Amino acid sequence: MNQTNDNSMPQRKIISNGVSPVVTRFAPSPTGYLHAGNYRTAVFAYLFAKHSGGKFIVRIEDTDAARSKREYEENIFDALAWLNLPADATYRQSEHRSRHRELLEKLIAADTAYVSKETPQKPGDREEVIRFRNPGGSLTFSDVIHGDITTDVTDLGDFIIARSLDEPVFHFAVVVDDADEGVTHVIRGGDHISNTARQLLISRALGFATPTYAHLPLIMDSQHKKLGKRTGAKALTDYRLLGILPEALLNYLAFLGWNPGDTREYMSRDELVEAFDLTRVQKGSAVFDEVKLFSVNQHWMRKLSTDDFLTRGNLSSDSPEKLRKAVPLLQERARTYGEVQEMLDGELSCLFSAPEPARDQLLAKELPGRQAVAKSALEGLLEAIKALPGEVSAEEVKGVIMPLADEEEARGKGGRGAVLWPLRYALSGQERSPDPFTLISILGPEESLARIQKAIAILEG
Ligand code: GLU
Repeated sequence: MNQTNDNSMPQRKIISNGVSPVVTRFAPSPTGYLHAGNYRTAVFAYLFAKHSGGKFIVRIEDTDAARSKREYEENIFDALAWLNLPADATYRQSEHRSRHRELLEKLIAADTAYVSKETPQKPGDREEVIRFRNPGGSLTFSDVIHGDITTDVTDLGDFIIARSLDEPVFHFAVVVDDADEGVTHVIRGGDHISNTARQLLISRALGFATPTYAHLPLIMDSQHKKLGKRTGAKALTDYRLLGILPEALLNYLAFLGWNPGDTREYMSRDELVEAFDLTRVQKGSAVFDEVKLFSVNQHWMRKLSTDDFLTRGNLSSDSPEKLRKAVPLLQERARTYGEVQEMLDGELSCLFSAPEPARDQLLAKELPGRQAVAKSALEGLLEAIKALPGEVSAEEVKGVIMPLADEEEARGKGGRGAVLWPLRYALSGQERSPDPFTLISILGPEESLARIQKAIAILEG
């Protein structure tokens, strides 16, 4: 499951000050439903924290009051709970306004920041903002994934850090909150690399310790466009509706830009925690491939016991025994619980309600004397099916019925199909259905007989 475009994976040393335990954070803005790529950041931050015996915190960055909604915030916590990424602490950025104000005032008092008179360019522009006094020069920080990154900060000018004392911009709030919450490792999307220089200048001016930065590789969609809502990325919680298991999604997201360095493709949460390290995060972008996600999901669905498979999919039926017997078939074919439901409503619906096969369809196609052939073929099976035990595997059924179909073939009246077609149709009444051996093993001999007898009566009628 290597999503890599860039396979070079130099071993890098993670610098730790050896004193403070690792604290990572996921800092989403609740301005929309987040997609799977957004949660990849949470997955990496969580796994790294837990691998290091540290803490994982979630901070809702809701300072953009116009665009932030509680509904989105709830969706974020819902998604994190579903993925089983519990936070050791949660914060809401808007609740730190007085602290932000205090530190803005401190910078202004030290003349590291100043209130700047502005000439509004368009309606709504402020006449006053707070700007950071840029010391200029070049600034280098060492990113765990990308190595040294140098920015000529002179180019940034005296950038804005707040629109007013109560409206810090993102760069300021993020730096203050990370420091106050004891964040040691800022693990976030690669699109934030260009923000880091500004944030480091603010952090230094406030006398904070510099966290370690790890900017994650970008995630592309299958069209090689940056994964995003605008390019059609689904909300993560939509995958729950599609019937993806959270352990499968977690497994898949962990491999978007990381791998364990061996051949493992399927890893449980505990195995991921054990193996995860930032040193193996790749620089090159990763590709989000839904087909691959579905196949990872199929792996995890197949690993479930019959009981767990039914419980996890919330599956029940008036005929619980038949449903249980259909589980191997579902595990073989369905990649998601959505597909399980499609199979139960479609191809497998015949298991739960007796078919009304149409006369014409019971007749094996293009055979001379079709009616007589189909009827005698079905009648020829009655004794054999009657003799089957109540619990019987598809293989056993096949062992009994195939020789009869072979005899029919030997008689040259249309081959095995002359038996197997009317049989399958009598049992299912459907164009598409599992093979008749599987059907008999799930329906049981008694119900199979009843269906065959009904078909014979239709053919006689
Ligand atoms: N709130 C920012 C975002 O949603 C993340 C800030 C950060 O990780 O530093 O993109």
